[in-house]
Amino acid sequence: MRYASLLAAPLLALTLPFLQSGCVLVKEADEELNPVRHKEATGVRESTKELHRTLMLADLHADTLMLDRGGKKGIQKRHDYGHADVPRWREGNVGFQMLTVATITPKPYSEHLNGGWILPNAQWVLASFQGWPPSTWANSRKHGLYQAKKWRINGNGKALVPIRTKGDLQRFLDQHYRKTSLGWVPIDPQNQPVASVLGLEGCHALQLKDTDTDEQIAARVKEFRDAGFRVLAPTHNFDNEIGGGSEGSERDGLTPLGHRLFREMERQHFICDLAHASNATVADVLKHYPNMPLLVSHTGIDFRPLVGEQQETRLLSRKQARQIAQRGGIIGVGLWPEAVGDAEPENVARMIHRCIKDPGIGSKHVVLGSDMDGAVEAAFAANNWCMLTEELRGLPEGTLRDVMGGNTIRFFLEHLPEE
Ligand SMILES: [Zn+2]
Repeated sequence: MRYASLLAAPLLALTLPFLQSGCVLVKEADEELNPVRHKEATGVRESTKELHRTLMLADLHADTLMLDRGGKKGIQKRHDYGHADVPRWREGNVGFQMLTVATITPKPYSEHLNGGWILPNAQWVLASFQGWPPSTWANSRKHGLYQAKKWRINGNGKALVPIRTKGDLQRFLDQHYRKTSLGWVPIDPQNQPVASVLGLEGCHALQLKDTDTDEQIAARVKEFRDAGFRVLAPTHNFDNEIGGGSEGSERDGLTPLGHRLFREMERQHFICDLAHASNATVADVLKHYPNMPLLVSHTGIDFRPLVGEQQETRLLSRKQARQIAQRGGIIGVGLWPEAVGDAEPENVARMIHRCIKDPGIGSKHVVLGSDMDGAVEAAFAANNWCMLTEELRGLPEGTLRDVMGGNTIRFFLEHLPEE
């Protein structure tokens, strides 16, 4: 012990400057990766701000857990860069935030890399420079579970309230919201804690193999369930052993191993996130798992010419958007250029209006799916959601409340497990 502490001092002295410069680099990379188009909420009327304070916002996607921003509890402090943290969610009246865990992010992205050895993995760089345990750097399972641990550490109930069950969510609502005929109204706007469900971006992190027994698959799924995950997306932006991704090189459907995983997800009452899934994977899930609750946490919908000449890879086809809606699913519209044509609040609003007007989708199935802190340019940061409220002022109040949060809350009240 003594020798160990004797050795620790010089080792710390040697590594500290490296870690500190690492932090500076991470901050610079963070600013570069997560820019904001509108730093200030310009053009928002006072009456909109007032209305906005009575809304409960629910957002299906933020990758904030992959960034420390000054330590494991950095998410609880306010920052002037990146997109989101608890103080900014509060300021923006976000009452519910799904936090999503990405474990492999190919950067620079190439569609020819497909789930095998992805060398340019931005998560490796982030984890090592932020001083995460070395075991997490290149191991997507440990990387994912480490982020889940951060979620639990921050879920102290004061700032961030971890939601695992229907009961958790109902208690949170009873404590902090007033239910009216049009939706939930915050009791103490901008001072309340934020409820959070945990989601996984890509089931490669479960590290399943064809040779695994059913018991081994069940145990691995349970490991992630015990860690707090309630929503699993089969793929991130590449094909993996579970199925094809929308940006993969083959873009096939679910593999036989993928089907075994999905059967286990049903048994353990998981919700499936179809963001980043290939058309074939979406089709397979719709066909073979008619009872699985479905959401698309962050996407655009292929409404042309609204989305311009964007690549199709991050757009859900209209047909599949309608199929998901008709199954009772919810679709989170993003704030970044590839999802809505440009990182402008009016573009996001236009996409939402198109979904509402589409008889196959309608106002009950379109929700918010920002992708904040997901290495994208966002229209605004989490404190300035009122910019979207301004653009959506033309909607009837009930519809506005549904889109901004009510639809998402009802979905989770229905589909979260009892325990
Ligand atoms: Zn994503």
